[in-house]
Amino acid sequence: MSALCKLAPLPWDEKALEPVISARTIEFHYHKHHQGYVDTLNKLVEGGKFAGMTLEEIIHETADAAADAEKKIFNNAAQVWNHDFYWRSLGPQKTVPQGKLASAIARDFGDTAGLIAALAEAGKSQFGSGWAWLISIGGKLQIEKTANAQTPMAQGINCLLTVDVWEHAYYLDYQNARPKYLEEVLGKILNWDFAAENLEKESQAVLAAAQ
Ligand code: MN
Repeated sequence: MSALCKLAPLPWDEKALEPVISARTIEFHYHKHHQGYVDTLNKLVEGGKFAGMTLEEIIHETADAAADAEKKIFNNAAQVWNHDFYWRSLGPQKTVPQGKLASAIARDFGDTAGLIAALAEAGKSQFGSGWAWLISIGGKLQIEKTANAQTPMAQGINCLLTVDVWEHAYYLDYQNARPKYLEEVLGKILNWDFAAENLEKESQAVLAAAQ
């Protein structure tokens, strides 16, 4: 990839998540913040050793960087990836966990409400900016929270869903009420089909590795 990193298109119309997330929030969050990470990343990698790498490769290569220049590259690259993953974690159509995902949720959290409560708690208790995640490790579902640009994906962990808890994700619609934003998003617009696809990818990868 010598081509520049590009802003991936949103998977739905900019008004589609209203009233949970307004078009005005999307206007700033996607067109200013997410675009800003893409533009900054492209400037930082231009002409250097990361210029030919994919976004995922850049994240893995810089995840444990000690030098400030590489930390900056990590922060911007991870934020590009995290935001793309966040948009795909949300959707206007009501979905419910089905199949293997539903079984895994029942096994690991009791029920979907239990999972949502744990994810909400992770989002609420993340001090400052960051992300709340549903991840799977060997098919076992877990909740994680990360600060700033940090992402479980950098450690090779399979991510199923994420929720952005940076203030820019909710301030226009909910002001300081992060718990209310989490309640609305987690209860109404999570894309469980995306989570199921991500869980399935992991079991396919395990099967492929075993052959
Ligand atoms: Mn954000």
